[in-house]
Amino acid sequence: VTTSPDIALGFDVGGTKVLAVAIDRAGSVLYEERVPTPREYEPVPGEATADAIDAMMAKALVEVQRDVADVVVGVGLPGIMSREGRVVFAANLPAANGAQIGDILRARHEGLRVVCENDADCGAVGEHELGAAQGRDNFIMVTLGTGIGGAIYLDGELRRGANGFAGEFGHVVVNVNGPRCPCGQSGCWERYASGAGLARMTHEAAAAGLLPELVKHRGGAANVRGEDVTAAALAGSNEAVAVVHDVAWWLARGLGNLATILDFDYVVIGGGLVEVASILIPRAQELMPSMVLGGAARPPFAIVPARNGERAGALGAGLVAFERLS
Ligand SMILES: [Zn+2]
Repeated sequence: VTTSPDIALGFDVGGTKVLAVAIDRAGSVLYEERVPTPREYEPVPGEATADAIDAMMAKALVEVQRDVADVVVGVGLPGIMSREGRVVFAANLPAANGAQIGDILRARHEGLRVVCENDADCGAVGEHELGAAQGRDNFIMVTLGTGIGGAIYLDGELRRGANGFAGEFGHVVVNVNGPRCPCGQSGCWERYASGAGLARMTHEAAAAGLLPELVKHRGGAANVRGEDVTAAALAGSNEAVAVVHDVAWWLARGLGNLATILDFDYVVIGGGLVEVASILIPRAQELMPSMVLGGAARPPFAIVPARNGERAGALGAGLVAFERLS
């Protein structure tokens, strides 16, 4: 058993996929794998996710030629997490509620050192140490995926709050008359400025006759998906750009609220919608000063895409493991 491991395994468990990386202390990615997120959690919450992590871990250990006791492991999970690493509530992965994946893995592997942390917090650590937020003391990380994940760095430190639950920006209500959210409320920010929000606005725009080219191309309004809009927007379609601009309006609306509260000057955007960052970010950047207190009088904000892209969470989980377990 080494006391100072030179390799960490990082896992990012998302609503649709699990991404694994093996990294060295410099943060170089030595190995990478992704699998679909398991759907079944019976009889014990987290058991199926632990099975998936186990299988990926076995492969990664062969690749990096280490035993399980020689590495440290970090697992990023989507939801509010207790300080002991239990999933207290996951709106977008309800079957994981109550999961204690660290305990399940430790029970299976003697000597395993593992830490579980909120996925967006992992992403923020990754971007702060080795990405777009290097040297930034006051920033937020916002991951625009199925939902919206969030993390807060203020005065140079990741802020967790009384229970470790801080930064769940996605479930701040921005429209009390808005659509129902899996969390139980209506009109949460993530019903608008996320991948799911884009999908909903795409369906509405198609049904309202605002996406004639895409509806024709896909053979009906019901067939047009969010991915069609992002692809068409990147190819220069004005009707598709208009839908992405609607998402950008809601992104700016939420960021303005958060900046009024937290006084950050920098925003790192991660998650799947980063794909369309070249259209989304400039528009949000332009709108945001009009949506924050004293906007015209404040120093400017910068909104940037995560440098580690979709790997940010897994890479950060590995860095969190190095920090806390060695
Ligand atoms: Zn919600």
